[in-house]
Amino acid sequence: MAVAHETFEELRTAGLADVDPEIAELLGRELERQRGQIELIASENFTWPSVLEAVGSVPTNKYAEGYPGKRYYGGCEVVDEIEELARGRAKELFGAEHANVQPHAGAQANMAVYFAVLNPGDRVLALSLNHGGHLTHGLKVNFSGKLYDFHHYGVSRETMQVDYDDVLATAKEVRPALIVCGGSAYPRTVEADKFREIADEVGALLMCDMAHFSGLVAAGLHPSPVPHCDFVTSTSHKTLAGPRAGFVLCREEHASKVDRANFPGMQGGPLMHAIAAKAACFRIAMTDAFRDYQVQVRANADVLAATLIAGGYDVLTGGTDTHLVQLDLRRTEWTGLAAQERLEECKLTANRNTVPFDERPPMVASGVRLGSPAATMRGFDEDDFREVASIIVDSLNESSGLEELRARALVLCEKRPLYPGFRGYTSYIS
Ligand SMILES: *Cc1c(COP(=O)(O)O)cnc(C)c1O
Repeated sequence: MAVAHETFEELRTAGLADVDPEIAELLGRELERQRGQIELIASENFTWPSVLEAVGSVPTNKYAEGYPGKRYYGGCEVVDEIEELARGRAKELFGAEHANVQPHAGAQANMAVYFAVLNPGDRVLALSLNHGGHLTHGLKVNFSGKLYDFHHYGVSRETMQVDYDDVLATAKEVRPALIVCGGSAYPRTVEADKFREIADEVGALLMCDMAHFSGLVAAGLHPSPVPHCDFVTSTSHKTLAGPRAGFVLCREEHASKVDRANFPGMQGGPLMHAIAAKAACFRIAMTDAFRDYQVQVRANADVLAATLIAGGYDVLTGGTDTHLVQLDLRRTEWTGLAAQERLEECKLTANRNTVPFDERPPMVASGVRLGSPAATMRGFDEDDFREVASIIVDSLNESSGLEELRARALVLCEKRPLYPGFRGYTSYIS
């Protein structure tokens, strides 16, 4: 494809659409894809326009290895202020003694904690991946599973919820240096206070990975793990609705170990534009408007679960305390994979997920994980989610044709436009 700007002088002022029409077109297509379907992937969200602005900002040019006031490069006076604001706001928002806002993503936040307090081979106890954990909680092919001796607790067969007596019994057997609570497909409250008692009883440190539900914690709609844990890690792009990134909160006594583990332990220069975006995201998360959004996320998740159940489908644990609903298809003819594909044909995006004690392999699975944060961000209310759940039920019952189901989904997309007024990527500097 011909490039419109070929001289150095032209490139210095040209926008993306002129320099790289192929990528500009793909960005535009991705925007239209996001606008034209109902996003139900529980880990995804649509971040604020203000955060998008910060992510595309000039601190991406700046090297700032080190921490505010202790950098290895000159010219850090402005990015120091950015990082101070981000750290201070994270501490204020979550009531934490210390914050490190440099991890590039959630996986790096977890790595920073492990590097800070574990030696290779140390024992760690975490929720099993098959029962809703995360790959950074000890999957064999992940760095966590390769470096450390992970053991896992699961959920109870009867309640499909964490059985704290069982966690205690396993902890007594394993004697872990660190216990990890939280996961990526667990629909119920993570009771960090109960994990604290267990950790104290076996002399372990405690980390909560609140990657999924940190937005609910910020809004006061999920009990905060911060007072009970030595470390709390999170992403900023899931319910928290900020940029794709991570951060660590910890007690003051662990602060310098966490900071050193992150840099120089595992990362080079921090992504200062992402840290600026995290600062903006934390500021937004302190507002009443953000709380209103999270209240709607919770209400919509409840309506989704209740409507699926009323439609004859099973939901793990019979409901949710969070933004996340696990559709359990074991009593039906559907596999998770087939259901995911069927929903996609109806313009609903979700991901298959194993349910605890699943007999199918993860690539097929017997569940579909659903979430309310992204659609709520475009303005979906309870009525809209009742309709979403009804589209899911009708599509799995095969009681309506695809055309009709797709049309119903598109009515919702038009009623609740995503990024209204945003022109897309056809021209950069006008
Ligand atoms: C999403 C998630 C992560 C990892 O986040 P990335 O930003 O994808 O690295 C870590 N832990 C849990 C529980 C998660 O859900």
